[in-house]
Amino acid sequence: MELWQEMLRQSVDSAKDLVQRFGFEKEQAEKLNKFFHTRINPYYLSLIRYPGDPIWLQCIPDAQELEDKDALEDPLNEEADSPVQSITHRYPDRVLFLVTSQCSMYCRFCTRKRKVSDPSKINTRYIQDGLDYIAAHLEVRDVVLSGGDPLMLTDFMLEKILAGLREIPHVEIIRLGTKMPCVLPQRITSKLCRMIKKYHPVYVNTHFNHPWECTAEAEKGCAMLADAGCPVGNQAVLMKGVNDDPDVMLELHRKLLKMRVRPYYIYQADLTKGTNHFRTPVRVGLEIMDKLRGHTSGLAVPYYVIDAPGGGGKIPLLPQYVLGRNGNDIILRNFKYDIYTYPDVEEQKAGDTEMERQFKRKRNGHDRKAPAPQEMELIGK
Ligand code: SF4
Repeated sequence: MELWQEMLRQSVDSAKDLVQRFGFEKEQAEKLNKFFHTRINPYYLSLIRYPGDPIWLQCIPDAQELEDKDALEDPLNEEADSPVQSITHRYPDRVLFLVTSQCSMYCRFCTRKRKVSDPSKINTRYIQDGLDYIAAHLEVRDVVLSGGDPLMLTDFMLEKILAGLREIPHVEIIRLGTKMPCVLPQRITSKLCRMIKKYHPVYVNTHFNHPWECTAEAEKGCAMLADAGCPVGNQAVLMKGVNDDPDVMLELHRKLLKMRVRPYYIYQADLTKGTNHFRTPVRVGLEIMDKLRGHTSGLAVPYYVIDAPGGGGKIPLLPQYVLGRNGNDIILRNFKYDIYTYPDVEEQKAGDTEMERQFKRKRNGHDRKAPAPQEMELIGK
């Protein structure tokens, strides 16, 4: 057994553990563990500094999880885009391929908690269906392995999947969506890296949310992946009490860049049942972006996105930098709030732009989901 597997066996994962180690009432611990399984491996547990700190909030169950009576289990409507059990096919040229239900730490904010930790919903027996689906769909050129955490699979099992994907000529890139570099960096072994190297291009997207997670062990794991030729990106989730502070996010993203991890997304928290207590106003996310852009290297600035409820996909949000137009001039402000004018190129107006045409088509179409612009209150106006 490898070190990471031994560490996993020592995880806090039962209602009894919650009672004994964290002082939960027995009945409450059982309810919480039934609602969404608990697993905290010893490495991640060791990062907690005090009760209720940003690490604690991400891994220790909270009674508030049981209070979200109306929220949805699948707010992103992934099931509607799921042609076979293991695949979500939402975007034209890429799919999400769920290969295991297991994670080394179950994040209390998980969007996919309706499935994660439940082997009856995500299971290795559905993997062949996923490979067959991808092979039959020539438009799929990008496959994101997720779950659960694909690095919970053994190297042997993971290699079978990677090799299976590489036999499909139209699959150009493979992405591993894994939280292991953050929550159990001991999983990143030389053996794993040697194996992954055989199947490039393989990108890794990981998931750090707070600067305390950027430890020496995590840095080593990320460096090993980078040395193995995997570009490593980060997807953070904005959460109340964890990272809803511009200084915390600035520190996190600077540290990530130093660890050779490129910040990719900050997600506005999804509307998933049992996670409402993590939600922050969108204003906070915009303020964070305002504090990043210009105040640190552009490489450390991710996209801030809302994954649109109902399955609309990721929509980027930006602080307001374009203040308006004055004739042909565009009025802009920079990161210090100084105002600048940019003389735009004069265009012959030959009717609507393609963007305007697309928007009008959607508005006038039968499938009108969004309110018309005059019905919207534009953020920042
Ligand atoms: S690692 Fe990912 S899939 Fe697993 S619990 Fe955390 S957010 Fe959910």
